[in-house]
Amino acid sequence: MSKSEQQADIRSNRLDKDELAGNFGDLHPPLSRSEALIAADRCYFCYDAPCTTACPTGIDIPGFIQKIRSNNIRGSAHTILRENIMGGMCARVCPTEVLCEEACVRNTHEEKPVEIGLLQRYATDPIFDQESPLFSRAAATGKKVAVVGGGPAGLSCAHRLAVLGHDVVVLNRDDKPGGLNEYGIAAYKTINDFAQKEVEYILSIGGIELRNGEALGKDFTLQDLRDSYDAVFIGVGLGSTNKIGLDHESLPGVGSAIEYIAEIRQADDLGKLPVGRRVVVIGGGMTAIDIAVQSKRLGAEVVDLVYRRGPEQMGASRYEQNLAQINGVTIHHWAKPVELLGNDYVTTIRFERTALDSNGRLTSKGDRFELAADTVFKAIGQILDVGVLGNTAGLEIRHDRIVVNEAGRTTLPDVWAGGDCVAGGDDLTVTAVQQGKVAAIDIDRRLRGE
Ligand SMILES: Cc1cc2nc3c(=O)[nH]c(=O)nc-3n(C[C@H](O)[C@H](O)[C@H](O)COP(=O)(O)OP(=O)(O)OC[C@H]3O[C@@H](n4cnc5c(N)ncnc54)[C@H](O)[C@@H]3O)c2cc1C
Ligand code: SF4
Repeated sequence: MSKSEQQADIRSNRLDKDELAGNFGDLHPPLSRSEALIAADRCYFCYDAPCTTACPTGIDIPGFIQKIRSNNIRGSAHTILRENIMGGMCARVCPTEVLCEEACVRNTHEEKPVEIGLLQRYATDPIFDQESPLFSRAAATGKKVAVVGGGPAGLSCAHRLAVLGHDVVVLNRDDKPGGLNEYGIAAYKTINDFAQKEVEYILSIGGIELRNGEALGKDFTLQDLRDSYDAVFIGVGLGSTNKIGLDHESLPGVGSAIEYIAEIRQADDLGKLPVGRRVVVIGGGMTAIDIAVQSKRLGAEVVDLVYRRGPEQMGASRYEQNLAQINGVTIHHWAKPVELLGNDYVTTIRFERTALDSNGRLTSKGDRFELAADTVFKAIGQILDVGVLGNTAGLEIRHDRIVVNEAGRTTLPDVWAGGDCVAGGDDLTVTAVQQGKVAAIDIDRRLRGE
């Protein structure tokens, strides 16, 4: 730890081992058999079930819940995973309160929805310890596809292509596969190395060669892949973090939420991570909530989250906002950062109050307030590092994201894309999985000449 970090009261071991273990345990522990039966019995098994329509991957939710009731857990897992090969991770991380569970007809003022996420986890958990695979590969087609990126989009695409009989090479920049499942999702949502367990399961289908540490734009170009493979899928996620655009943004103590979250996820011993006493988070999405809650759970005394608009406009769902509040995070709405103060280290951040004008545009109200901080996390969104794509002639990019049609086709005939790096998505794991799957189905059709 540097001298200035000590002055700023950034230190490790703020909490003892047991407290940390409790704080970073399973956010939603799995259901027991009897709890799962009670939850499953609440399902009305609706015809045209609205939950299935609300799930981006279109899982037959009444179908898998029915199989839990009849104790056909393997069949239930098959129903889930045939539509969403990351159904295990999605059961842990999907904001179900705005997806399937929001649409559940039992979700009323008087009742809570059927616990679809927890039931999905109940059905899929046993699969990872079973020897016999749920899926097998079709006869080999002799075609080879390059998948760039080993996150949810890339792995979902690779798995479906492998099932359809194609050979796949996944080229992944990071040392480990999984993308943000491994480096981004809050630690208490996916414990016990589940992300790697799921990747192993996906790769066990065969026909997928994973090459970690190989980056598009550095080790190879898009043209290299187009020359060597029958088709290319791009699922590189978003590589760069937005800047706030303030002076002193490089002041020690001011950092990227994404980078610190990755450190939390990769830490062997959470006690060794340096944590500030007074943490301020700027942003209103899931990343902002995650860094705020995890800072608090690591032992930060005061955590303030500041967002420039109101609660309705936050990217984080109501559930996530409540999670932050019950963890002791103070959320301030309608304020934007205007100045970072400090000499060797950040000490204070100054905000200006904001409001919407009569045209619905965000304006400054002029009055200001300050928050003391020894740590400031920027969580104001990520952007695609378009530079990695190299020569983008013929590839349409809009607002720094790749343009695709509903089948995942880019404007290049042999290149598909999906996940966070494409325009118009909602930056959720489940959406990335769906886009990878849809692109694989379209690649297959194209390669078969249909
Ligand atoms: C902090 C945080 C928390 C989140 N929490 C949730 C949540 O709780 N629930 C939810 O549904 N969603 C959540 N999300 C969003 C979700 O994680 C993403 O939408 C999802 O991971 C996108 O998948 P992807 O495959 O498109 O990209 P990523 O997961 O980003 O994976 C991209 C992959 O591409 C590789 N790559 C990058 N650049 C290159 C290159 N040049 N060459 C080769 N490979 C490359 C990377 O190594 C990585 O493996 C969260 C996101 C963040 C940042
Ligand atoms: S994948 Fe997500 S949205 Fe779809 S049913 Fe499962 S928990 Fe709900």
